[in-house]
Amino acid sequence: MKLYNTLTRKLEEFKPITAQKLSFYACGPTVYDFAHIGHIRAYVFNDTLRRLFEFKGYDVNHVMNITDVGHLSDDADNGEDKMEKGARKYGKTVWDLAQYYTDFFFMSMDGMNILRPKVVCKATDHISEMIELVKILFKKGHAYETKEAVYFDVPSFKDYGKLSGQKGEEKEQAVRDDVYADPEKKHPADFALWFKRIGKFKDHTMHWESPWGDGFPGWHIECSAMSMKYLGKTIDIHTGGIDHIPVHHENEIAQSEAANEVPFVHYWMHYHFLQVEGQKMSKSLGNFFTIEDIKKRGIDPMAFRLLLLQSHYRQPMNFTWQALLATQEAYRKLKAEVKVLRDQIHIMRDFMPDVNLLATFLGFLENDLQTPQAVALLFTMIKSHRTAEEKLSFLTDADALLGLQLLKEEEEIDVIPSEVIDLAKQRNIAKEKKEYAKADELRKQIESKGYKVEDTKGEYTIKKL
Ligand SMILES: [Zn+2]
Repeated sequence: MKLYNTLTRKLEEFKPITAQKLSFYACGPTVYDFAHIGHIRAYVFNDTLRRLFEFKGYDVNHVMNITDVGHLSDDADNGEDKMEKGARKYGKTVWDLAQYYTDFFFMSMDGMNILRPKVVCKATDHISEMIELVKILFKKGHAYETKEAVYFDVPSFKDYGKLSGQKGEEKEQAVRDDVYADPEKKHPADFALWFKRIGKFKDHTMHWESPWGDGFPGWHIECSAMSMKYLGKTIDIHTGGIDHIPVHHENEIAQSEAANEVPFVHYWMHYHFLQVEGQKMSKSLGNFFTIEDIKKRGIDPMAFRLLLLQSHYRQPMNFTWQALLATQEAYRKLKAEVKVLRDQIHIMRDFMPDVNLLATFLGFLENDLQTPQAVALLFTMIKSHRTAEEKLSFLTDADALLGLQLLKEEEEIDVIPSEVIDLAKQRNIAKEKKEYAKADELRKQIESKGYKVEDTKGEYTIKKL
């Protein structure tokens, strides 16, 4: 199996630390807002990677963190905690906010048929592990304390910058003049391990006791501490978005390797972003979409998964509704073909599975997860002149790898019929025009079809009764 390793900047043959075992850490979400379709792209990638290893008989220990404290708005040490900001914006407590968006995140992941990690670990549940790690960094001369915080001393770690190819000194120019910096910070690239609850953070709601006073951890230390706790000092694979390369992951390497004096990660894998109609997704542009928006349009989330798999994870992806609708059609046809096959076969007759076909399919995935080629082969295969048994046998394996629920019976899938979506749309228009009697009549019609509409702040969601 060949994987692209960001650390060496080349495709490398994968060699596990322990035979048939994979230690796998995936940077998880910061739960201050809704998980959107860009996040879904990221986690479908993680899921496909895991499915490939499991298909090959690996015992995969998949760990993912939930960031619920310490992630500042600029990803480095400036701005404010995303959780505190989100709580203020939505009028919730930070704890309620974290729970609410964590639930939404997992609802989205389950809806996308993404397998849950073996270990899901929250930053706020691991404060003592982070404190212990910072203590080690102090002991080994890689940390220092100021009146405001505890920092990692970047010049003390010689390998700093090996992941991004960017040297610590280069970060000096990257620091803008208009942002506040701790006057006692020794080097611009030094990053916070612990923030004290003073100055701009004096009212920070989440805080804990530490040897350096009351405060809260920096963002990066959580991944080092939790990866070490659940997977050991050196792991096989760590994944994240390309935006994590220069700061977050560089800092994780520095903390982990300075403390443990062994390599932290063997294979670093990074996925590219998703754009919507050629633009960055943002609420202000009105192009911020979640799984709910997909379902609301009557589109099966599995059609979205198929669309995602048709682009390679290291390439940027441009999402359009038009492309998704076309994929929805392709997905429907594919499922219909599978149904015909299943109806043809009640008992599998003896047959020789085409080992070459599966080998070719696996070969694409084992070549740095070339999912577009694998999906293309799936479509060619279904149209080929093979026997129903051969096709169904291949589809069973392909589906385990791609997670498209091709063999799941239609009625089990939660797809909202288009007529219900239409009625909900009409009802919303009626409500906006203050035609309440009409809106109520439409609501009854929706309910007679087994669905209900829930209104929240001008938005509406269709749910099964
Ligand atoms: Zn991380």
